[in-house]
Amino acid sequence: MKIIINFMMSAAASQQFPASPAPEVAFLGRSNVGKSSLLNSLTGTRMARVSNTPGRTQTINFFAIHFGVEKQEPALVLSDLPGYGYARAPKAIVSEWPKFIEPYLESRETLGLCIVLVDASVPPQASDVALIEWLGSAGREFQVVATKADRLSGNKLTESLKKLRAALGAEVMPYSSKTGKGKEELWRKIRQTLEARSTSRPASR
Ligand code: GDP
Repeated sequence: MKIIINFMMSAAASQQFPASPAPEVAFLGRSNVGKSSLLNSLTGTRMARVSNTPGRTQTINFFAIHFGVEKQEPALVLSDLPGYGYARAPKAIVSEWPKFIEPYLESRETLGLCIVLVDASVPPQASDVALIEWLGSAGREFQVVATKADRLSGNKLTESLKKLRAALGAEVMPYSSKTGKGKEELWRKIRQTLEARSTSRPASR
């Protein structure tokens, strides 16, 4: 199905988050993990900027997604969060983010799924473990996705995914923005979230 994607806004403060009632999927990961490439590959557009320079503007970028036809309200909102650093102390991962990230993750009512990206070719990182634990304690549903899966051969990828699963205590889906591997599975996961939210919308979120 044709995906129509419109940039909504960049937010640098809680008051600026868009008021769309559509379910939201957030994308998080360390700088350079391949988040922009994954967003572009997933949507078949160049919605996100691909760059080798970590530490770009610290904003949450919101995108409205329509499937097939453009309606008044989008079917889905994607949010692209600032990448976090390589060397930061794991405990500081959330507290060192700009002030508006934590309230976003904690209380964004429409946020149905957080997609946490980790690099398939890099050993498990303490900062990723810390983020996942934090999301768990905040009661957020999340899916871990291992990017750049094309960089590893079959056996090496299996081994790497196993290590990531063990260290992160979570299911990990492989993805390659180069080959499109994992794209269908990730869309399926996102659609499941949409369906779940349209049938049971928690009252407090
Ligand atoms: P971001 O900082 O997380 O948005 O990461 P980018 O999307 O800008 O990607 C960082 C670097 O990793 C770039 O040099 C990309 O070309 C490379 N990269 C991203 N995704 C893939 C992938 O699926 N396979 C390979 N081989 N390289 C990738």
